Amino acid sequence: MAGNDLPRAIRSLPTGLSTLKRQVRGQLPLMDLRRKPVPLVPEKVAREQQHHAALDKLTDDLYFINPFSLFCNIASSDLMDKIHTGMAEYHDEPSELWHSHAWASSIRATSGAFAHYQSGMPIFPSDFVTFICGEAPCHCSQGAENQKLHTGRVYGVGRDFRSGQTGHIVIEIELVLLKSDITVQLDPPVLDYEGLLSWNFYYFVSECQIISYIPDVQLDYNFGDDRSGKGKVFAF
Ligand SMILES: [Zn+2]
Repeated sequence: MAGNDLPRAIRSLPTGLSTLKRQVRGQLPLMDLRRKPVPLVPEKVAREQQHHAALDKLTDDLYFINPFSLFCNIASSDLMDKIHTGMAEYHDEPSELWHSHAWASSIRATSGAFAHYQSGMPIFPSDFVTFICGEAPCHCSQGAENQKLHTGRVYGVGRDFRSGQTGHIVIEIELVLLKSDITVQLDPPVLDYEGLLSWNFYYFVSECQIISYIPDVQLDYNFGDDRSGKGKVFAF
């Protein structure tokens, strides 16, 4: 095969073997292996191999990759330059996994990066909170006497890169409709200590717009909300 016919990925490889080895190790250094002799089941072993060992001493080596070594090698390799770590990102045209709600709604993927309440405690997805929407004029921005804060559930947390934003932390909140927010008569009616998760009203707010965490919220999964799998009614 002529040189120009080779795939570009092969043509871009270095011509010297030592250089190639060094670059491969730079991508992901060789890992420690653990070796453990394990007994074999004679009936499962080829006859030729059985002839070379007494049946009661039929063993073979099993190799394990040391997971500690694996993660250390990944963390110290060039791969880390290509791996996204930290919070989700909000983009106008999401294309990566960390642009998704799956990343924004989980604390497992954020490598310890969190938004925080004013008390310093981390804000977790699904926390119930009071907040200021920032869309004045609104009763949440009134003076202390007339102020009525919104109630919501944290739907996602991430950094905002939408429409020219520069990556500040935002909290996506699903509004909770309280009895005073509902103008139609429901059957059964919403009680003073109950609320409904809104299907349509979501807010993006900054950490300073989160006023407080609401503890001890009970979710009623048998309420009959048409959306499958969503929490329905909760008591405050
Ligand atoms: Zn408001």
